[in-house]
Parts: sequence; structure tokens; C-alpha cells
Amino acid sequence: MLTQAPKGTLDMLPQDSHRWQSIERSMRKACALAGYREIRTPIFEHTELFQRGVGDTTDVVQKEMYTFEDKGNRSITLKPEGTAGAVRAFIESHMYADALPAKLYYSACPCFRYEKPQSGRLRQFHQNGVEVFGAKDASVDAEIIKLAMDILKANGIEGLKLNINSIGCPNCRKAYLEKLRDYLLPKLPTLCKTCQERFERNPMRILDCKEDAPKLTDAPAMLDNLCEDCASHFEKLKGYLGAMNLQYAIDPRIVRGLDYYTKTVFEIITDTPDGGELTVCGGGRYDGLVEELGGPATPGIGWGMGIERMLMVQDMRGTAPKAPDYLDAFVVTLGDEARMAGVKLVNELRGQGVKADLDHAARSMKAQFKYANKLGVKNVIVIASDELQRGTVKLRDMVNSTEQELPMEQVVEMFANS
Ligand code: ATP
Ligand code: MG
Repeated sequence: MLTQAPKGTLDMLPQDSHRWQSIERSMRKACALAGYREIRTPIFEHTELFQRGVGDTTDVVQKEMYTFEDKGNRSITLKPEGTAGAVRAFIESHMYADALPAKLYYSACPCFRYEKPQSGRLRQFHQNGVEVFGAKDASVDAEIIKLAMDILKANGIEGLKLNINSIGCPNCRKAYLEKLRDYLLPKLPTLCKTCQERFERNPMRILDCKEDAPKLTDAPAMLDNLCEDCASHFEKLKGYLGAMNLQYAIDPRIVRGLDYYTKTVFEIITDTPDGGELTVCGGGRYDGLVEELGGPATPGIGWGMGIERMLMVQDMRGTAPKAPDYLDAFVVTLGDEARMAGVKLVNELRGQGVKADLDHAARSMKAQFKYANKLGVKNVIVIASDELQRGTVKLRDMVNSTEQELPMEQVVEMFANS
């Protein structure tokens, strides 16, 4: 137990951390280019925020939340996703009174869901995400979708499928839900228990049920029942995506069946070797959410992207980035005086932005070389008493096994300029 991490969690080990860093770097870079600024919200919030913000008919709220009572008897929940916290912060900080739209992002934000651990499903995972408040035009829908595709592409994750859909607005959805219920009613006894419960409050989610969806292929689609405003929004979105040369497919089965999700919803998915599908990124418009959580009516839209799933796709495709060189130079010393000079030299190298280190384990000279080899260091700088007296060092190329002697002062300059 003691040396085993809790089920559904993963360590990020030093040999892999460069992959995370590179994902985060590309996220920050792409977001900055498009005018998005970072927001960080707490890892836990009042439980009620997620009940309202994610919706208490969702699996996330009904089954997957890490909820506990704190010492002050408040019900607290570890965040299962990033949107609700961002909306709460938007309202609490009166960001709605600033210049809108507010274009926000978060990078590698920890999320917690009590799910059955399996491939691609963790209990602590990490999301990149963007949220935009105060932009109702479909140009922003297209912008965030393009942003997601660019970030995935920058990380060697290509060949993804982009599926889009529109789930309408409270205006057109009311009549559609009636149509849908009329269609579902005679089939109700054949549906699973969860879907029977969804029939009244959230019938669109039934179309999303893995068990029941195959029986419902001729169900009326929201997409065919949009009001003029929603239909024109969807047309505009397709136009903007086309203008950016983004390929997409329309999938009328994507739903985010909550009242405050509106219009655009989308998923970015990839095939897995076992014939399944993996969703790497999902998002949508939530024009009713800010108001639902107590703020002024403000349109919103966002997506969440699973970092561990990005890593899975990199592994599947063999497109993981190579680790950068661990060190530019390793200093090997012999004797106390040389060691003093080595400490000084390493310090100067680091000061010039050169990645450098020396032995800290009191190893013999031979063992220092062996250690440098193990680290895969190409350049070893040798300081021994002979060299010290001459004011020089030996520079050893560990790959070609060549050596040259050069003045100590030149070494720092040489590495700093290389
Ligand atoms: P799924 O259909 O896979 O359950 P979801 O609809 O629950 O996904 P979202 O709430 O949209 O997922 O979260 C956005 C992204 O976060 C997902 O596309 C996925 O990449 C990632 N994600 C969601 N749940 C998990 C999990 N348990 N473990 C790892 N990544 C996850
Ligand atoms: Mg899920």
C-alpha cells in the first residue's frame, strides 16, 4: 500500500516530464498568440458550484465527484472539470465589467473524477482548457476549435477527427424535446434504467448512451430542428472553419444535454489500435451558464483537452518528442584543488546558461566518467592537477572519444556561444 499510488493516478517521472513541459509550452504559446490569458482557480470548490455548473443530471455529478466535508462542515468537491470554477471566478471578480470578451486559458489543470480506472480513464487527470466569456459570434467558436487543433498538431497529434454539432437554444429546444419524448415514449421500457430516469429531465442525454444509442438511430435530431438564430450560427461556424481550411464532420449525436449548453458542441477524436475511439478534446457553447450561476447574462464557450490522452496518442503513433540533452557539460575533477576549480567552473557555466554539473557523490575519476556516460553527456570537462598548474582544462568528446586541451577562461565562452 505504502509504495503504491492510489488507483487511477499516475506519476509524472523525470524521464517523461519534458513531454508535459512541451505540451504546456505549446499551449501557452498558441493561447498567447490568439490573445488568451491564463486563469488558475482553486483545486476545490463548494460542491454546489458543480451541481449547478456541471449539472446534477450528469454522470460527473451523480457518480464521479470527489466530495467530502471539511472541518467546518462545508461540502467541498475536488474539481472534476475547469469550466465551473472559471465561471465562478469570472462572476466573483466582476470580470464581466471589464473589456469583453474575456479570453481565458488554463494549462495542465488537475481534475478529479471517481471513474472505473481503465485505459484513458484516470481518477486524477489533467486538462488544458480555454473559456471565452462575452463573445456570441460563431467566429469565436471557430477560433477555439482551431486553437485546439493547432495545439494538438504542435504535439505530434495529427490525423484527428473533428466532429461538430449544434444542440440549439432554450428557444428551439423546447419544441424539439417534445418531439424527442414522443419518439422515445413507446421505446422507454426497452431503455436502460439511467435513460428511463433521463426521460423527463434530460432526454437528449439518452441519445448519448452507449447502451441505448444504437436502438435510436432514427431519432429526430436537434440539428434538423434549430431556430433561425441557431441555424444561422451553425452555418457561420461552418463558414469560418472552411475559411481556416479545417476539415470537420457533422455528428448529430454529440450532445451536452444540459439546459445552459447551447448551439455549438464539438469533439476531437482519434481511433485506437483496438478499434475503439478516444476523445482527446471536447467542448461547447454555454450561453446560459454565467446567468445560471448568478452572473449577468453572458455568452460563454470553451473546451477541455486531456493531457494524459494526448500522451497516449503520442505513444500510439510514436510521435513523442525526444528528450532534450540532460546536460551540456559534465565536469570531472581529480583532487581537492581541482574540485574547488570545478565548483567555480560549473557555477560560471550555469551563469552563462550552459547546463552543467559535477560529481556530488565523492566518486573516483573513473567512476565520474562512468556516471557522465550513464547520463548520456557528450562533453566532459576534465580538471586535474597538471591542467590546473597550466591553467587549462581537457575537453573530452564522449561520443568520438577525442580530447583537446584549452585555457580555462575559454571554456565558458566556448560553451556559452555554442
Ligand atoms: P469521455 O466521453 O471520455 O468520458 P467526457 O465527456 O467525460 O469524456 P469532458 O468532461 O468533456 O470529457 O472532458 C474533456 C477531456 O478531458 C476529455 O475529452 C478527455 O480528453 C479528458 N478526460 C475526461 N475524463 C477523463 C478521465 N477520467 N481520465 C483522463 N482524461 C479524461
Ligand atoms: Mg466522462
